[in-house]
Formats: sequence, C-alpha cells, structure tokens
Amino acid sequence: MFDKLHEECGVFGIFGHPEAANLTYLGLYALQHRGQEGCGIVASDGLHLKSHLGMGLVADVFRRDDIFEKLPGRSAIGHVRYSTAGGNDMKNVQPIVVDYSRGSIAVAHNGNLVNAQEIRNALEKSGSIFSTTSDTETIIHLLARSQSDSLVERLCEALMQVKGAYSLTILTETRMIAVRDPNGFRPLSIGKLDGAVVVASESCAFDLIEAEYIREVEPGEVIVIDKNGMQSYFPFPKETRNTPCIFEYIYFSRPDSRIFNRMVYPVRKEFGRQLARQYPVEADLVMAVPDSGMAAALGYAEESGIPFELGLIRNHYVGRTFIEPQQSIRHFGVKLKLNPIREVIEGKRVVVVDDSIVRGTTSRKIVKMIRNAGAREVHVRISSPPTSFPCFYGIDTPSRKELISASHTIDEIARYITADSLCYMSLEGLHAALEQFGDHKIDFCEACFSGNYPVKFPRLMESNQLGLF
Ligand code: AMP
Repeated sequence: MFDKLHEECGVFGIFGHPEAANLTYLGLYALQHRGQEGCGIVASDGLHLKSHLGMGLVADVFRRDDIFEKLPGRSAIGHVRYSTAGGNDMKNVQPIVVDYSRGSIAVAHNGNLVNAQEIRNALEKSGSIFSTTSDTETIIHLLARSQSDSLVERLCEALMQVKGAYSLTILTETRMIAVRDPNGFRPLSIGKLDGAVVVASESCAFDLIEAEYIREVEPGEVIVIDKNGMQSYFPFPKETRNTPCIFEYIYFSRPDSRIFNRMVYPVRKEFGRQLARQYPVEADLVMAVPDSGMAAALGYAEESGIPFELGLIRNHYVGRTFIEPQQSIRHFGVKLKLNPIREVIEGKRVVVVDDSIVRGTTSRKIVKMIRNAGAREVHVRISSPPTSFPCFYGIDTPSRKELISASHTIDEIARYITADSLCYMSLEGLHAALEQFGDHKIDFCEACFSGNYPVKFPRLMESNQLGLF
C-alpha cells in the first residue's frame, strides 16, 4: 500500500555540462521551498549512474565536497521532496535509480499518480517486487516490463497507463528526458547554459545558475536530450484538457519564478488587488503573514490605498524538525516563526493578508498574537477561496475532515480564528484577476476549492482520502 498520497516536490536536470552535479546542487537549493524532507542527485559519466541521496535539506545532505567527486559526469538530475505520511523514510527519497535488463535509469517526479495503487496491485499479482512505497516506482516497473525496442517507446507506453500529475526528469547513461503530464498540473521549464540543456520545476533555479530560460515543457510533451540534440514528442491523445494548478500561483511556487508562461509575483499581487476590490475595509494598515501573504498584501495595500507595514517578522531559520526543549517551555508554536512589532500594531485597525487557511490553527494563533500586540481590530483577508477539498495531484493538503472550511461556514471560521472580519477571495475573483493577464481562458485545476477533479481517480483512494465522501 502506498503511504505517500500527498507529495510536494521539485525536480531539476542538466545535460552536457562538466559541472553537472554541482549545478544540480545549486538548482535544488533554489527549489528547496518545494520540499524539505529529503533530496538526491544522480549523475551520469556516460557509462554509469552514480547517486547520493539523503534525508534533510539540500545544504545538509550535500555538505561534504567529496560527495561531488563521487558524482562525476556531464549530466545529472535531482529532486527535493516533502511528504506528509512516513516522511522520514529514506527508501522514498528520489531520484529513484534502478538497474534493469537494458541498463540503468533514474527518475525524479513532482506530482502524484492517482491510479498507482491499482497498477501496483496488478503488477504485484504478476510477480513484481516493489522496493519503495512511492507512486513513482510504478512508472519504472511499467517501463522495464515493456517489450518495445526504444527507450522513448517504452517510456510512452508506461506513461499511457498512469494517470494524474507528473513533471519528470529522467536520466539514463546517455540521455536525459523531461516529461509533463497531458494536463500540465505541475510546472516544468527548459533552459540553456553554455550549450547545456537545463530543466527545472521553476525558473528561479535557472536564475541561480545563470541559465537562460527558453520555454515551458508543454503539457503532454516528452523531450529527449542526448548528444545529438533535443527531440520533442507528443505521445498522448490530443483531447486532454490543460489544467495547470492554480495553487502554484497562489502559494507554492516562488514569486520570482516564471511558471505556466507567466511570472508568479505580478499574478499573486493582482490576487491581492482583486481581494481589496472585492472586500474593502476601513483600516489603518495592511500587513502580511510572511512570507506566503507578502505579494497579495502589497497588492491589497496598493489597491486600497491603506499603508503597508511590516507588522510580523519571520525567523527564517526554524527547521521543520524543531525539537521543543522541555515540557515547561513547550508549545511556543507559531511564536518560533513569527514575532509582531508592537510599535507598528498597537492601537491600530489592521488588515492581515495570507494566501490560504488550511486547518485554521496558524491563523488563529496569528490573530491572537496581533491582538496581544495591541491591535484594535483584526481583519483577515485570504487571497484564495476556502480550501475545502484535498489535492490528489501533488500539493500537500490534509484529508477533508482536517480542512476547516470543509465543515465550517466562513462566519464560524472567523469566530474560531477570533477575527473581526474574515473574507476569502471568490473563484470568480481569481478568474477576474487572471483576466488582467489574459489567462482567464486557461482551465486551471481548482479542485482544492471546487471539488471538481480534472482527472478522476479510483474509488478506493476517494473513500480513503476524502474522509467525508
Ligand atoms: P493552517 O494553520 O493549517 O490553516 O495553515 C495555514 C498556513 O499554511 C498558511 O499560512 C499557508 O500559507 C500555509 N500553507 C498553505 N498550503 C500549504 C501547504 N501545502 N504546505 C505548507 N503550508 C501551506
């Protein structure tokens, strides 16, 4: 049984550069926000694949210089991962590397396959032995079992059988392949650096290594890179809708990235402007929940004409695995991360902008913190609609019963978080904001808000994961 159903990840790859592994390290460093629990790099010297993988942050896993000496060659792929269940499990760190009858292959996957369990059950019945609990391994099994002669054919045959979200970087001894699922749920871009081809989940990875952004990998595109150049294939039936994930714009991608052919920052800021148009309030200052609410808060302030202030300061050095020292001084919770500036807040009517409310626990603590710092009124504005449905395509959202807006009205949530007012952006508001960029015709996946899932999934997963369905 898979224990990884909600995964957040970032992928990177480079082909044809003498410093492939080092550059992959930097690329992963720029993608660290997409996953903090484990990471890995696989490099090829043209004959063999060598890998280094570990639990923890990129800078910790690749701390020693001698690691890079063991990753020689001119091509490499890498992966950062975060998963909720069983996250401290080393066997699920990617890229997954296997040796099979035709050589070696490594796969790094961002996204989530919705029919992996069914495929796995069938394969196990016919004798396959899986070594991870990750959905990604099913792609490798299907590829290895294919009787087709060429790697591309074997890969496409495998991909035709899986459903869901996948942005992949794949490495063999002599080739790198980049793939985006036909819906294009997760971002993936292609760039170049000194004649080398680079692929990354987000363009912020290109900026760090000074690579030039070329374009998005198209939904349903398979790009094969080898010493002869680059070949592009579109093996999937044409009728699939392009449904990129709206939450990448709202929260997940870095604001300095270009994804889905658009810079994130202006889109996120426009969401804040739209929020101000839809839900104005009389207040003395606008502040953000850093960092996630920053761009939308700036947009809200600009549109409303209410001054923007830094009311909360974030400590950036809090790891995910903070160990609380002893019982008597436990439960500092959100205080570890955020501290209010009393001099800014005291006696003021404040608008607090964040991108989303998931369980509601963070917002509740933040509102309390702002009140304790002397705020007269606290008005919470959220730059996305209520998150009422879990994601099955690669964003880490809890099951339905843990999502506060799945079972509570907005008034009830406002009371729970003790806000004087609470307003969420509407879906229509999101579309109106996207219209400013001409992107309103894109059929974004908004399943986490609407429950309208563009790729259907087996009933088993539905009942297990949706909890309340
Ligand atoms: P909560 O206390 O569960 O309501 O958490 C809300 C906070 O989590 C907001 O500040 C969001 O920016 C942040 N958030 C939203 N989605 C995610 C996610 N998938 N992973 C981590 N944090 C998230």
